[in-house]
Amino acid sequence: MPFRTIIEPFRIHSVQAIDFPTVEQREAALRRTGHNLFGLHADEIIVDLLTDSGTGAMSSRQWAGMLDGDESYAGSRSFYRFRDVVQDLTGFAEVIPVHQGRAAERILFEVLVEPGDVVPNNTHFDTTRANVEHRGGEARDLVIPEGRDPALIHPFKGNMDVEPLEATIAEMGRERVPLVMVTVTNNSGGGQPVSMANLRAVRAVCDRHGIPLFLDACRFAENAWFIKLREEGYAERTPREIAREMFSLTDGCTMSAKKDGLANIGGFLALNDADVARRCRDLLILTEGFPTYGGLAGYDMEAVAQGLTEVLEENYLRYRIRSVAYLAEKVERAGIPLVRPAGGHAVYLDARTLLPQIPPSQYPGQALAVELYRDGGVRGAEIGSLMFGRPGPDGTEIPAAMELVRLAIPRRAYTQSHIDFVAEVVIDVAERADSLRGFRIVEQAPWLRHFTARLEPVS
Ligand SMILES: *Cc1c(COP(=O)(O)O)cnc(C)c1O
Repeated sequence: MPFRTIIEPFRIHSVQAIDFPTVEQREAALRRTGHNLFGLHADEIIVDLLTDSGTGAMSSRQWAGMLDGDESYAGSRSFYRFRDVVQDLTGFAEVIPVHQGRAAERILFEVLVEPGDVVPNNTHFDTTRANVEHRGGEARDLVIPEGRDPALIHPFKGNMDVEPLEATIAEMGRERVPLVMVTVTNNSGGGQPVSMANLRAVRAVCDRHGIPLFLDACRFAENAWFIKLREEGYAERTPREIAREMFSLTDGCTMSAKKDGLANIGGFLALNDADVARRCRDLLILTEGFPTYGGLAGYDMEAVAQGLTEVLEENYLRYRIRSVAYLAEKVERAGIPLVRPAGGHAVYLDARTLLPQIPPSQYPGQALAVELYRDGGVRGAEIGSLMFGRPGPDGTEIPAAMELVRLAIPRRAYTQSHIDFVAEVVIDVAERADSLRGFRIVEQAPWLRHFTARLEPVS
């Protein structure tokens, strides 16, 4: 077949206008927000790559399903459709709807995790970590060493390192390891996939010790596509077959439908253990809602049920993964350092390498993110010392392991020319990287400071 561009597998059916704030307006917005991109109004942004969570475009079939949502308090038809789709996809008997992924985490850990327990994961997402720690547990990240090296190429950088998993169980004893989790794709590690072979190896360890294995399944479809492309024996399998095999190796999952549910809100907890499910439902009723809606409207469950079906279409996944790789290739071809290979949902620029004149204590990731916005109206997210820096014993700050800017791509929301525009902005800013200056914090909260901190440029 001749080479052809992989096109967006949809026509645009409804559009939302973008405002084009001038550079003066963007500079004023930066002064107003203390150079914190979380403080911007969305209308002050031209291309918003802050997150891929809940920011995707829904399909006409999702909207059609929403119109037919059943808002009955108990026993809604929309719940049964949602339940059937999740059961068919995951094979899990018990399906509990929740308003988003962290609610599933909070409920599951409240049932399973006791103070002093250790929960191993390839890399905990920040809400997952916070919910383990909130229970008095330790959230232990056991990704393979290759997963910690930004420039190193490896097909499955999200894999869990099985030896330290064994060592953790030996150290703590089975009673202190209530579950093992694997995050697909590994969001906090750059959206990198986990192989089926690795899932099988982790399953074997869990079986030997009788420990349940759960998937943090937020990007299960993107992970399945990487397995199809990269793992021997899967090229001819459908994404649905691969996803089902992934779920079949585990005892349950937590899911945010704001990612691979292709919905703007929603999620679920699904599992096989009827007794654990019963205790989870008791907690659900306490804070989320009755077990046939779990904090969602009937129409939300319709949108998720349809989204979970569309997300496994090959044309969609081929376009999705290609469009992220396309941005990474353009940036890499210009010689700009980034996390390699491209992840499933985002491109991560390596600000520490790009801006050697700015020390971590002056937040090179924030300097780059602010300049991408000032220059081109593009909003990314700093994932570096502003987010993860910790005060050291002598009062100075311990920097984060990496200084990154994440450009997360919302699903089905932007076209190739938006992405071309983003690449042009990144390349223009990188060409005058040596003129960028660092920042210092002038105001910060005691925790999760990156959301609200105010900063000013170092003169
Ligand atoms: C988004 C996300 C969550 C939490 O889901 P929310 O819907 O934001 O609560 C958990 N784990 C991973 C890997 C995620 O990406």
